[in-house]
Amino acid sequence: MSVKVQFNSGQNTASHNTEGWRHHSMYEYNDESFMIAQRQLDEVARRMNLDSGIHERLRYPRKSLIVSVPIKLDNGQTKTFMGYRVQHDQTLGPTKGGIRFHHSVNLGEVSALAMWMTWKCSLLNLPYGGAKGGVCCFPEEMSQGEMERLARRYTTEILSIIGPEKDIPAPDMYTNEQTMAWIMDTYSNFVGFAVPGVVTGKPVSVGGTQGRVEATGRGVAYIVKRAIERQVRAINPETATAAVQGFGNVGSITAKYLHQQGIKVVGVSDVHGAIYNPAGLDIPSLLHFVREQGTVVGFDNAQKIDGHEVLELDVDVLVPAALGNVITAKNADKIRCKILAEGANGPVSPEADSILRDKGVYVIPGILANAGGVVVSYFEWVQDIQHLFWSEQEVVDKLYYLMGRAFDDVYNLTQEQDMDPRTAAMVLGVGRVAAAKALRGLYP
Ligand code: NAD
Repeated sequence: MSVKVQFNSGQNTASHNTEGWRHHSMYEYNDESFMIAQRQLDEVARRMNLDSGIHERLRYPRKSLIVSVPIKLDNGQTKTFMGYRVQHDQTLGPTKGGIRFHHSVNLGEVSALAMWMTWKCSLLNLPYGGAKGGVCCFPEEMSQGEMERLARRYTTEILSIIGPEKDIPAPDMYTNEQTMAWIMDTYSNFVGFAVPGVVTGKPVSVGGTQGRVEATGRGVAYIVKRAIERQVRAINPETATAAVQGFGNVGSITAKYLHQQGIKVVGVSDVHGAIYNPAGLDIPSLLHFVREQGTVVGFDNAQKIDGHEVLELDVDVLVPAALGNVITAKNADKIRCKILAEGANGPVSPEADSILRDKGVYVIPGILANAGGVVVSYFEWVQDIQHLFWSEQEVVDKLYYLMGRAFDDVYNLTQEQDMDPRTAAMVLGVGRVAAAKALRGLYP
C-alpha cells in the first residue's frame, strides 16, 4: 500500500500547502501527534521567519528505523512485534530519548516524541538531539521473561544506530531500570566490554546516577516554585494550592516536592480514581499508603471524587502528570488553575491551549516543566563517560541550575516579545538547533 502525502517544496517559510508531493510507503508518519508536532514547528517557524531549507529539514526525522522483533513466548509460540527507533536531529550532538513498550506505539507517535525531545534538549542547552523508540505490544500481559527477551531482541535490531556517541535510549512508558540494564548488557556483550553510557536510567549498580528516579518530579516542582517566585500570576506562596493528575513516578514525586515547598496539595488522582481534601493532603503519609496499596483511592482523611474532577479543582497550580491529551476543547473551559505545569508529555491539546491562554492560565510546556528527567539522564551519561560519579546533592544542585536557567530564558522572552511560554520555549528550542544547522551546513 502506498499513500500520498503533501510534501513541502520549500518556498518561503515552509508552509505545508505548497505544490510538491511525494510517495510514502504504508509506514507513513500519519499520526495525530506527529501532525501536531509539525504544526507547532510550522507556527514557530513562521513567527521566527526561519530559513525554509532548515525548516523543511526539521519537519521530518533524520533517520527512522522500523524493525521486526520476534521472540519466543512462555507458551512456546513465536510472536513478532513491530519496533521503532527514530532519530529526529543530530545537529547538537548524539540523539537522546526514551523507549516505550505500549500498544499505542507507531512510527508517527514515536516521531512526534522524537521531535519534542529535540526541542527539549536544545531548550535545556544539552548537547543532544531528540530521539524516541518503542515496541508496539501489550506489556501488562507479558511475563518478566518475555519482557526481557523483547528488550534484548529489540536492542539487537537497533544496535547499529545506538551507542554513547550516537544515540542514547532511556526509560519511558512500561520500561524501567531493569529494561535499561538489559539493553546495556546486550549492547556490551555485542561490543565485548561494558558500555554503561549506551543508555541512561540504569540502576546505580550498573552505572546509573543518584537522583535519576526523582529527577522529573523534582524538576516540575522546582519550575512551579520559580514561576510563583517570578509572579507569573498573582499567587501567595504562603497559601498556594495544587492538584496533580497521575500518581506514578512524575506525579507522586512532584506532589512530594510541592508539599515540601509548602504548597498545599489538595487533590490527586490515578487510574483508579481521585481524592480531595481542601485542607491539604498529608503527602508523606499518602506516598506510604500508595506504596502499600498501589492506589491513592481509600486514603484516610480525604473525600473520593471522580478522576476528571481533579483537573477542574479551584487551585493555584495544576500538574497533569499521567497521559497525553487530557485537556482538550471539551474540558478546557472548566480548568480553574492559574499555573498549569505539564508533567506529562502533551497533556494539553492545541485547541485547549488557546482556550487556556484566553482564560489567562499560565501554561508551562512539558519541554520545560518535565525536562528534569533528561537533564539528569545527561548527568548520568557524563558520569559514565568520565567514570566519575557524583553525590545526589551535586546532581540536584546542577539540575536546579539548568532548569532555573531554562525557565529564566523562557520567562525573559515572554516579557521581551509578548509571547506565551510555550511559544517562547519552542522559539528558543528550535532557534538554537537552527542556528547550529546554519553554521554546520547540510550534513547534520
Ligand atoms: P507512571 O506509569 O509511573 O505513572 C502514570 C500514572 O498515571 C499512574 O499513577 C497511573 O495510575 C496514572 N494514570 C493512568 N491513567 C490515568 C487516568 N486516566 N487518570 C488519572 N491517572 C491516570 O508514568 P510516569 O513516568 O509518571 O509518566 C507520566 C507522564 O509523564 C507520561 O506522559 C510520560 O511520558 C511523562 N514523562 C515522564 C518522565 C519520567 O522521567 N518518568 C519524564 C518526562 C515526561
